[in-house]
Amino acid sequence: MNSQTATLIDGKATSAKVREEVAVRVAALVAKGITPGLAVVLVGEDPASQVYVRNKDRAAHAVGIDAQTHKLAVDTSQEDLLALVAKLNADPAVHGILVQLPLPKGLDEAAVVRAIDPHKDVDGLHPLNVAALSMGEEGLVPCTPAGCIELCDRYDVELEGARAVVIGRSMLVGKPVAQLLLARNATVTMAHSRTRDLAGLCREADVIIAAVGREGLVRGDWVKPGAAVIDVGINRGEDGKLHGDVAFDEVAAVAGAVTPVPGGVGPMTIALLLSNTVTAASRLG
Ligand code: NAD
Repeated sequence: MNSQTATLIDGKATSAKVREEVAVRVAALVAKGITPGLAVVLVGEDPASQVYVRNKDRAAHAVGIDAQTHKLAVDTSQEDLLALVAKLNADPAVHGILVQLPLPKGLDEAAVVRAIDPHKDVDGLHPLNVAALSMGEEGLVPCTPAGCIELCDRYDVELEGARAVVIGRSMLVGKPVAQLLLARNATVTMAHSRTRDLAGLCREADVIIAAVGREGLVRGDWVKPGAAVIDVGINRGEDGKLHGDVAFDEVAAVAGAVTPVPGGVGPMTIALLLSNTVTAASRLG
Protein backbone atom coordinates (compact mmCIF):
# COMPACT_ATOMS: atom_id res chain seq x y z
CA MET A 1 0.00 0.00 0.00
CA ASN A 2 1.27 3.45 -0.87
CA SER A 3 1.47 6.18 1.71
CA GLN A 4 2.70 9.67 1.09
CA THR A 5 6.14 10.35 2.48
CA ALA A 6 7.08 13.20 0.16
CA THR A 7 6.84 16.86 1.09
CA LEU A 8 4.01 18.40 -0.89
CA ILE A 9 5.34 21.38 -2.82
CA ASP A 10 2.44 23.79 -2.59
CA GLY A 11 2.44 25.93 -5.73
CA LYS A 12 -0.73 27.72 -4.76
CA ALA A 13 0.61 28.99 -1.44
CA THR A 14 4.04 29.75 -2.94
CA SER A 15 2.44 31.64 -5.81
CA ALA A 16 0.47 33.74 -3.32
CA LYS A 17 3.74 34.60 -1.54
CA VAL A 18 5.48 35.52 -4.80
CA ARG A 19 2.51 37.70 -5.78
CA GLU A 20 2.70 39.49 -2.41
CA GLU A 21 6.38 40.18 -3.04
CA VAL A 22 5.57 41.42 -6.54
CA ALA A 23 2.96 43.79 -5.08
CA VAL A 24 5.66 45.30 -2.85
CA ARG A 25 7.93 45.80 -5.88
CA VAL A 26 5.03 47.37 -7.80
CA ALA A 27 4.34 49.80 -4.94
CA ALA A 28 8.01 50.84 -4.90
CA LEU A 29 7.91 51.56 -8.64
CA VAL A 30 4.61 53.44 -8.37
CA ALA A 31 6.23 55.60 -5.66
CA LYS A 32 8.84 56.53 -8.28
CA GLY A 33 6.13 57.42 -10.80
CA ILE A 34 6.24 54.17 -12.80
CA THR A 35 3.12 52.01 -12.94
CA PRO A 36 4.08 48.68 -14.53
CA GLY A 37 1.92 48.03 -17.58
CA LEU A 38 1.14 44.65 -19.12
CA ALA A 39 -0.56 44.19 -22.48
CA VAL A 40 -2.04 40.77 -23.18
CA VAL A 41 -3.07 39.99 -26.74
CA LEU A 42 -5.67 37.30 -27.37
CA VAL A 43 -6.51 36.32 -30.93
CA GLY A 44 -9.62 34.20 -31.45
CA GLU A 45 -11.88 32.51 -28.95
CA ASP A 46 -10.07 29.39 -27.79
CA PRO A 47 -11.80 28.62 -24.47
CA ALA A 48 -8.62 27.61 -22.59
CA SER A 49 -6.79 30.72 -23.81
CA GLN A 50 -9.72 32.90 -22.75
CA VAL A 51 -9.51 31.48 -19.22
CA TYR A 52 -5.71 31.93 -19.07
CA VAL A 53 -5.96 35.53 -20.29
CA ARG A 54 -8.72 36.39 -17.83
CA ASN A 55 -6.68 34.92 -14.97
CA LYS A 56 -3.56 36.83 -16.01
CA ASP A 57 -5.51 40.08 -16.24
CA ARG A 58 -7.08 39.58 -12.82
CA ALA A 59 -3.81 38.58 -11.13
CA ALA A 60 -2.02 41.58 -12.65
CA HIS A 61 -4.62 44.04 -11.39
CA ALA A 62 -4.53 42.43 -7.94
CA VAL A 63 -0.83 43.36 -7.52
CA GLY A 64 -1.26 46.86 -8.96
CA ILE A 65 -0.06 46.22 -12.51
CA ASP A 66 -1.96 48.20 -15.14
CA ALA A 67 -3.09 45.31 -17.34
CA GLN A 68 -4.94 45.67 -20.61
CA THR A 69 -6.27 42.84 -22.75
CA HIS A 70 -6.49 43.29 -26.51
CA LYS A 71 -8.99 40.87 -28.03
CA LEU A 72 -8.71 40.33 -31.76
CA ALA A 73 -11.01 38.34 -34.05
CA VAL A 74 -10.02 34.84 -35.09
CA ASP A 75 -9.61 35.99 -38.72
CA THR A 76 -7.19 38.82 -37.81
CA SER A 77 -4.43 39.13 -40.42
CA GLN A 78 -0.75 38.76 -39.65
CA GLU A 79 -0.33 42.38 -40.74
CA ASP A 80 -2.91 43.69 -38.26
CA LEU A 81 -1.46 41.60 -35.43
CA LEU A 82 2.05 42.86 -36.16
CA ALA A 83 0.70 46.44 -36.29
CA LEU A 84 -0.75 46.01 -32.78
CA VAL A 85 2.56 44.57 -31.50
CA ALA A 86 4.41 47.56 -33.03
CA LYS A 87 2.01 49.96 -31.34
CA LEU A 88 2.53 48.25 -27.96
CA ASN A 89 6.31 48.23 -28.48
CA ALA A 90 6.19 51.99 -28.93
CA ASP A 91 3.86 52.67 -25.98
CA PRO A 92 5.92 53.81 -22.95
CA ALA A 93 3.09 52.84 -20.57
CA VAL A 94 3.41 49.20 -21.68
CA HIS A 95 6.37 47.38 -20.12
CA GLY A 96 5.31 43.82 -20.82
CA ILE A 97 3.70 42.29 -23.91
CA LEU A 98 2.30 38.79 -23.97
CA VAL A 99 0.70 37.30 -27.06
CA GLN A 100 -1.31 34.31 -25.89
CA LEU A 101 -0.28 31.16 -27.75
CA PRO A 102 -1.27 29.13 -29.66
CA LEU A 103 -2.39 31.57 -32.35
CA PRO A 104 -5.16 30.58 -34.76
CA LYS A 105 -4.08 28.70 -37.90
CA GLY A 106 -2.64 30.91 -40.61
CA LEU A 107 -0.78 33.23 -38.25
CA ASP A 108 2.99 32.93 -38.00
CA GLU A 109 3.75 32.56 -34.27
CA ALA A 110 7.51 32.76 -34.62
CA ALA A 111 7.28 36.01 -36.59
CA VAL A 112 4.93 37.52 -34.00
CA VAL A 113 7.23 36.54 -31.11
CA ARG A 114 10.22 38.00 -32.99
CA ALA A 115 8.31 41.27 -33.49
CA ILE A 116 7.93 41.87 -29.74
CA ASP A 117 10.50 44.24 -28.24
CA PRO A 118 12.78 41.79 -26.35
CA HIS A 119 12.81 44.17 -23.36
CA LYS A 120 9.01 43.79 -23.15
CA ASP A 121 8.93 40.05 -23.95
CA VAL A 122 7.64 38.90 -20.55
CA ASP A 123 7.11 35.35 -21.87
CA GLY A 124 10.86 35.14 -22.54
CA LEU A 125 10.36 33.55 -25.96
CA HIS A 126 12.07 36.12 -28.20
CA PRO A 127 15.27 34.69 -29.75
CA LEU A 128 17.35 37.35 -27.96
CA ASN A 129 15.97 36.26 -24.58
CA VAL A 130 16.51 32.59 -25.51
CA ALA A 131 20.11 33.47 -26.37
CA ALA A 132 20.58 35.48 -23.17
CA LEU A 133 19.43 32.49 -21.13
CA SER A 134 21.86 30.12 -22.81
CA MET A 135 24.69 32.67 -22.53
CA GLY A 136 23.97 33.35 -18.86
CA GLU A 137 23.22 37.01 -19.60
CA GLU A 138 20.47 39.21 -18.22
CA GLY A 139 17.16 38.79 -20.07
CA LEU A 140 13.59 37.74 -19.45
CA VAL A 141 13.13 34.08 -18.54
CA PRO A 142 10.06 32.02 -19.58
CA CYS A 143 7.54 31.97 -16.75
CA THR A 144 6.82 28.24 -16.30
CA PRO A 145 10.51 27.19 -16.18
CA ALA A 146 11.28 30.09 -13.81
CA GLY A 147 8.35 28.93 -11.67
CA CYS A 148 9.82 25.40 -11.44
CA ILE A 149 13.14 26.77 -10.16
CA GLU A 150 11.39 29.13 -7.74
CA LEU A 151 9.53 26.14 -6.25
CA CYS A 152 12.80 24.21 -5.87
CA ASP A 153 14.42 27.19 -4.15
CA ARG A 154 11.58 27.83 -1.76
CA TYR A 155 11.42 24.15 -0.78
CA ASP A 156 15.20 23.83 -0.39
CA VAL A 157 15.60 21.38 -3.24
CA GLU A 158 19.37 21.27 -3.72
CA LEU A 159 20.24 21.96 -7.37
CA GLU A 160 23.99 22.57 -7.08
CA GLY A 161 25.72 19.40 -8.26
CA ALA A 162 22.42 17.51 -8.42
CA ARG A 163 21.62 15.07 -11.21
CA ALA A 164 18.56 16.47 -12.97
CA VAL A 165 16.48 14.81 -15.67
CA VAL A 166 14.20 17.05 -17.70
CA ILE A 167 11.58 15.13 -19.66
CA GLY A 168 10.44 17.14 -22.69
CA ARG A 169 12.45 19.44 -24.94
CA SER A 170 10.02 22.20 -25.94
CA MET A 171 11.08 25.82 -26.36
CA LEU A 172 8.39 26.75 -23.83
CA VAL A 173 9.40 24.47 -20.94
CA GLY A 174 11.94 21.67 -21.45
CA LYS A 175 14.83 23.59 -23.03
CA PRO A 176 14.65 26.71 -20.84
CA VAL A 177 14.23 24.73 -17.62
CA ALA A 178 17.31 22.67 -18.57
CA GLN A 179 19.26 25.91 -19.12
CA LEU A 180 18.15 27.23 -15.74
CA LEU A 181 19.20 24.01 -14.01
CA LEU A 182 22.56 24.14 -15.77
CA ALA A 183 23.01 27.74 -14.64
CA ARG A 184 22.50 26.47 -11.10
CA ASN A 185 25.23 23.88 -11.56
CA ALA A 186 23.02 20.82 -11.85
CA THR A 187 24.16 18.02 -14.14
CA VAL A 188 21.32 17.99 -16.63
CA THR A 189 20.03 15.24 -18.90
CA MET A 190 17.32 16.17 -21.38
CA ALA A 191 15.00 13.31 -22.19
CA HIS A 192 12.34 13.24 -24.90
CA SER A 193 10.12 10.98 -26.97
CA ARG A 194 13.10 9.14 -28.50
CA THR A 195 14.99 8.60 -25.25
CA ARG A 196 15.89 4.98 -24.52
CA ASP A 197 15.26 3.61 -21.04
CA LEU A 198 13.65 6.74 -19.65
CA ALA A 199 12.74 4.89 -16.47
CA GLY A 200 16.39 3.91 -15.84
CA LEU A 201 17.52 7.46 -16.48
CA CYS A 202 14.98 8.87 -14.05
CA ARG A 203 15.99 6.37 -11.35
CA GLU A 204 19.41 8.04 -11.20
CA ALA A 205 18.01 11.55 -10.85
CA ASP A 206 17.97 13.72 -7.74
CA VAL A 207 15.55 16.06 -9.51
CA ILE A 208 13.01 15.15 -12.19
CA ILE A 209 11.12 17.80 -14.12
CA ALA A 210 8.36 16.33 -16.29
CA ALA A 211 7.03 18.52 -19.12
CA VAL A 212 5.50 16.10 -21.58
CA GLY A 213 1.71 16.16 -21.67
CA ARG A 214 1.14 12.43 -20.95
CA GLU A 215 -0.92 11.60 -17.92
CA GLY A 216 0.86 9.48 -15.31
CA LEU A 217 3.99 8.87 -17.43
CA VAL A 218 6.39 9.03 -14.46
CA ARG A 219 5.74 6.04 -12.22
CA GLY A 220 6.67 5.42 -8.61
CA ASP A 221 9.37 2.89 -9.52
CA TRP A 222 11.05 5.47 -11.80
CA VAL A 223 11.90 7.64 -8.82
CA LYS A 224 14.92 7.37 -6.54
CA PRO A 225 13.89 7.52 -2.88
CA GLY A 226 14.14 11.12 -1.70
CA ALA A 227 14.27 12.70 -5.17
CA ALA A 228 12.35 15.89 -5.96
CA VAL A 229 9.73 15.61 -8.70
CA ILE A 230 8.33 18.71 -10.42
CA ASP A 231 5.29 18.00 -12.58
CA VAL A 232 4.63 20.56 -15.31
CA GLY A 233 2.15 18.47 -17.28
CA ILE A 234 -1.50 19.43 -17.55
CA ASN A 235 -3.70 16.69 -18.97
CA ARG A 236 -7.48 16.47 -18.97
CA GLY A 237 -8.21 12.92 -17.80
CA GLU A 238 -11.08 10.64 -18.76
CA ASP A 239 -12.59 11.61 -15.40
CA GLY A 240 -12.78 15.21 -16.67
CA LYS A 241 -10.22 16.34 -14.07
CA LEU A 242 -6.73 17.75 -14.54
CA HIS A 243 -3.82 15.36 -14.09
CA GLY A 244 -0.08 15.78 -14.34
CA ASP A 245 2.61 13.75 -16.09
CA VAL A 246 3.40 12.09 -12.78
CA ALA A 247 1.49 9.19 -11.18
CA PHE A 248 1.11 11.28 -8.05
CA ASP A 249 0.14 8.69 -5.40
CA GLU A 250 2.89 6.26 -6.41
CA VAL A 251 5.54 8.96 -6.65
CA ALA A 252 4.54 10.65 -3.38
CA ALA A 253 5.27 7.34 -1.63
CA VAL A 254 8.96 7.40 -2.68
CA ALA A 255 9.96 10.95 -3.54
CA GLY A 256 11.38 13.47 -1.10
CA ALA A 257 9.20 16.23 -2.51
CA VAL A 258 6.58 16.42 -5.26
CA THR A 259 4.30 19.01 -6.86
CA PRO A 260 0.60 18.23 -7.23
CA VAL A 261 -1.50 18.92 -10.33
CA PRO A 262 -3.45 21.13 -10.06
CA GLY A 263 -1.88 23.44 -7.48
CA GLY A 264 1.79 22.93 -8.30
CA VAL A 265 3.62 24.55 -11.19
CA GLY A 266 0.47 26.01 -12.76
CA PRO A 267 -0.13 28.85 -10.27
CA MET A 268 3.58 29.74 -10.38
CA THR A 269 3.42 30.55 -14.09
CA ILE A 270 1.17 33.57 -13.54
CA ALA A 271 3.17 34.72 -10.51
CA LEU A 272 6.38 34.70 -12.56
CA LEU A 273 4.65 36.55 -15.40
CA LEU A 274 3.81 39.33 -12.94
CA SER A 275 7.37 39.26 -11.63
CA ASN A 276 8.76 39.51 -15.19
CA THR A 277 6.48 42.48 -15.90
CA VAL A 278 7.82 44.32 -12.86
CA THR A 279 11.40 43.42 -13.82
CA ALA A 280 10.78 44.80 -17.34
CA ALA A 281 9.20 47.96 -15.92
CA SER A 282 12.11 48.58 -13.56
CA ARG A 283 14.63 48.11 -16.38
CA LEU A 284 12.72 50.25 -18.90
CA GLY A 285 11.81 52.92 -16.34
P1 NAD B 1 5.23 19.98 -26.12
O1 NAD B 1 4.19 19.10 -26.72
O2 NAD B 1 5.73 21.15 -26.90
O3 NAD B 1 6.50 19.09 -25.75
C1 NAD B 1 6.37 17.83 -25.18
C2 NAD B 1 7.73 17.17 -25.10
O4 NAD B 1 7.54 15.88 -24.50
C3 NAD B 1 8.41 16.95 -26.43
O5 NAD B 1 9.70 17.52 -26.36
C4 NAD B 1 8.49 15.43 -26.59
O6 NAD B 1 9.74 14.99 -27.13
C5 NAD B 1 8.35 14.93 -25.18
N1 NAD B 1 7.67 13.63 -25.14
C6 NAD B 1 6.52 13.27 -25.75
N2 NAD B 1 6.21 11.98 -25.45
C7 NAD B 1 7.19 11.54 -24.64
C8 NAD B 1 7.44 10.31 -23.99
N3 NAD B 1 6.61 9.28 -24.13
N4 NAD B 1 8.53 10.20 -23.22
C9 NAD B 1 9.37 11.24 -23.08
N5 NAD B 1 9.18 12.45 -23.66
C10 NAD B 1 8.11 12.59 -24.44
O7 NAD B 1 4.66 20.42 -24.72
P2 NAD B 1 5.03 21.65 -23.72
O8 NAD B 1 4.49 22.90 -24.29
O9 NAD B 1 6.46 21.58 -23.33
O10 NAD B 1 4.13 21.25 -22.49
C11 NAD B 1 4.33 20.03 -21.79
C12 NAD B 1 3.22 19.85 -20.77
O11 NAD B 1 3.28 20.90 -19.83
C13 NAD B 1 1.81 19.90 -21.34
O12 NAD B 1 0.99 19.01 -20.61
C14 NAD B 1 1.38 21.33 -21.10
O13 NAD B 1 -0.03 21.45 -20.98
C15 NAD B 1 2.05 21.60 -19.79
N6 NAD B 1 2.34 23.02 -19.52
C16 NAD B 1 2.02 23.49 -18.30
C17 NAD B 1 2.28 24.79 -17.97
C18 NAD B 1 1.94 25.28 -16.61
O14 NAD B 1 1.80 26.47 -16.39
N7 NAD B 1 1.85 24.39 -15.63
C19 NAD B 1 2.87 25.65 -18.90
C20 NAD B 1 3.23 25.12 -20.13
C21 NAD B 1 2.96 23.80 -20.45
